[in-house]
Amino acid sequence: MRALYGACTSALLTNAVTRQSSLFSASKQQSCQRLRGGAISAKGGMAVATADDQRLKKGIAEFYDESSGVWENIWGEHMHHGFYDPDAVVQISDHRSAQIRMIEQALQFASVPEDSQKKPRSIVDVGCGIGGSSRYISRKYEAECYGITLSPVQAKRANDLAASQGLANKVSFEVADALNQPFPDGKFDLVWSMESGEHMPDKLKFVSELARVAAPGGTIIIVTWCHRDLSPSEESLRPEEKRLLDKICDAFYLPAWCSTCDYVNLLESLSLQDIKSADWSENVAPFWPAVIKSALTWEGLTSLLQSGWKTIRGALVMPLMIEGFNKGVIKFSIITCRKPE
Ligand code: SAH
Repeated sequence: MRALYGACTSALLTNAVTRQSSLFSASKQQSCQRLRGGAISAKGGMAVATADDQRLKKGIAEFYDESSGVWENIWGEHMHHGFYDPDAVVQISDHRSAQIRMIEQALQFASVPEDSQKKPRSIVDVGCGIGGSSRYISRKYEAECYGITLSPVQAKRANDLAASQGLANKVSFEVADALNQPFPDGKFDLVWSMESGEHMPDKLKFVSELARVAAPGGTIIIVTWCHRDLSPSEESLRPEEKRLLDKICDAFYLPAWCSTCDYVNLLESLSLQDIKSADWSENVAPFWPAVIKSALTWEGLTSLLQSGWKTIRGALVMPLMIEGFNKGVIKFSIITCRKPE
């Protein structure tokens, strides 16, 4: 695995991006310096080769096929971080509402309109898990929503949940690749990617597809794990930072990471508008300690042991996520923009 996706966080991406601006503060417009030379794309030779992409996709599909049931049993239908007030004392019962709050904060950050004339009518959920966001957002806006995932188990579970919640005529899910979406150009008023971007081996292709399927004037929301932005004097992350992220990549089926500035630069290169980003790392801080705590309960441990090696290996690296956030290497980022009319 190391050899496969190896070089995670290494030269693959960081070499492409020189002289990044320094860290940015929450809700502030980015001041990233422009990408120089080849973008973050397989075409430019900057990402893993196609055979490796196929292996990565297979690994992602198997990982979520195997682990989604365990997650749902313990944490429910949302497979993403919660959004908390910084330094809040958090009760176990707060976590589901924190996950809903994450969705609401993201919609608000992107200024998605709520009034009946302008609210989104057609939504795509790219990397949909078992469809928690899709169903929530579809209900909120009374919109149709299409979700895609690499995991057949997730797609089936998402459709079953939609049916049991009376949403079968509004939302639907299928197995499809975010890098080659089965949708026509300009279909969606809202393009939603909640914690799937980190799995994408070709970030340029990823954001290009998000932009392609967005309708003119449509909103794109990417909430994703990034590595820290590089300072002007840096060419890449430090070796110990790369080693930490490599271990996380191996267990969670992630290719090379990129920074928030990398995303901003890519969106700019596609001439998208109103590009905004923020660092929400502090707002997600209670999440991983809570997940670890729930994994250590009797229910958590028995479900983990019944699941399989991929899930167990994922659980074992959870403390490294906390370490990465604490050391400032990992950033929890939101990046939003609008497709020109
Ligand atoms: N957004 C969901 C799930 C996040 S887990 C939620 O918030 O609940 C990451 C998801 O990304 C999984 O469903 C996984 O299958 C999906 N994913 C990863 N790479 C993908 C790709 N190339 N194409 C489509 N989905 C992908």
